[in-house]
Amino acid sequence: MAKTVDWSKYFSYNTSKLEDFQKRLGARNVFATALMPIRGPIGFRKLDYEFAEKSLNVKEIMDKVEECHFNIFGLVIKDTDGACTWDTKVGWNPTNRDILGEFCDEGKERNIPIMVSLTSMNDAYQGHLHPERVSIHGKSGVIKKFDRKYEVGDISTHEEGEMRVDLPEGISLEEYQKKIPFLTEKIDDKIGASRGARGKGYIPLTSFMCPNSEHVDYLIDLAKEVVKNYPVESFIADYIRYDGQFTDLCTCERCQELFRDKYGQKAKILKSNQWYDFKEDTIAIYARKLQDAIKGIDKNCITGWFLLPGSKNMFTRKRIAQNWTKLSEILDITCPMEYPYLTGTRDDGWKWGKLGDIAYWYFIRNMKKRAHEINNPALAITNSVECNAEEMLKQMKGFDFGLGIALFKYFGTTDSQWKALKKYSEEDIGLDNLGLAKNYKL
Ligand SMILES: [Zn+2]
Repeated sequence: MAKTVDWSKYFSYNTSKLEDFQKRLGARNVFATALMPIRGPIGFRKLDYEFAEKSLNVKEIMDKVEECHFNIFGLVIKDTDGACTWDTKVGWNPTNRDILGEFCDEGKERNIPIMVSLTSMNDAYQGHLHPERVSIHGKSGVIKKFDRKYEVGDISTHEEGEMRVDLPEGISLEEYQKKIPFLTEKIDDKIGASRGARGKGYIPLTSFMCPNSEHVDYLIDLAKEVVKNYPVESFIADYIRYDGQFTDLCTCERCQELFRDKYGQKAKILKSNQWYDFKEDTIAIYARKLQDAIKGIDKNCITGWFLLPGSKNMFTRKRIAQNWTKLSEILDITCPMEYPYLTGTRDDGWKWGKLGDIAYWYFIRNMKKRAHEINNPALAITNSVECNAEEMLKQMKGFDFGLGIALFKYFGTTDSQWKALKKYSEEDIGLDNLGLAKNYKL
């Protein structure tokens, strides 16, 4: 397979970790596609509970996955809205379905292991249910997009940036708010030009929860429930971080007290290295709890975390507090989210194609510079949605760090892309290297 970059020069983790992972997978390469069940059948700018409940056809999806030779299927079991798409006693499931269970059954039938992703700190429903667990702003500011002010001490519950909600036929907003309580009466009625402004419909709220609150206990309970009750091969934590939109979270009393206990009364909240260390450690402590909870139930379940690429100091440390080294030393694998062509695609015109190309160059350069900070095998996830087949293949080759590649996401992938994917698995990777789960047993 022609590799764009020889990544083995840049990563420094022990290769026995990689071999161990390949052995467990029964294949040399990961070739995965992922599905977000509540974002509807097209892109990902909608929250569509009706679709998840009534139209999502699990068998049809898994037929397609098998036809294209994918050897892992990724499922987002909890998205940023907070809906838990399994049979749960702990969480909120508005779909009236055990979607995870259905995928596990179909996966078992075809020997395709299931990898799940759980959104952690971003949770609209929990923000509505437990405002006392939402992150607190330490500074006042304005969210330009919505022309909305917030003050010091306000909770970080804001209008959702990209996802919108359509009302089901014959149902009023008031009625629907009983089911989706974080839905506002505001409507976004036109599709914007920029990529982040493509949603259309009612605007929901979204909340970043405080990672030192009881929200973490809730997440751990969810993880335990999933790993105990479902044969999931891998469990990856998403949104294992602070909100990247702000630099002033979280200054709640819990966080202030913990910080002062550790660094003393004079230590500076918000702008000090100690504060940034404290936030990175807070996220790492959640990773440790998750690792112990999952391994305590199934030591073979592969754990991981989603990494957002970017500048080490300005973004990773000061905004989202993801310490790549600490997190990769705790969890089994790291999943960098490499979505350059979400910035723009040639299909929308020359300018957007150019922006996508620049983003691609930046993402490659960023990872070359920072790969040495990652101490476990890295499996990148890149986008098939909202770009063309050529851009998709370029990303798949560029971001194969040695473990293979995962794709985001199933719905929104076009016919020409499906064709290209099937061809890629047969000709570029080779069916032998995919193992096709021949020896794989659940
Ligand atoms: Zn807090």
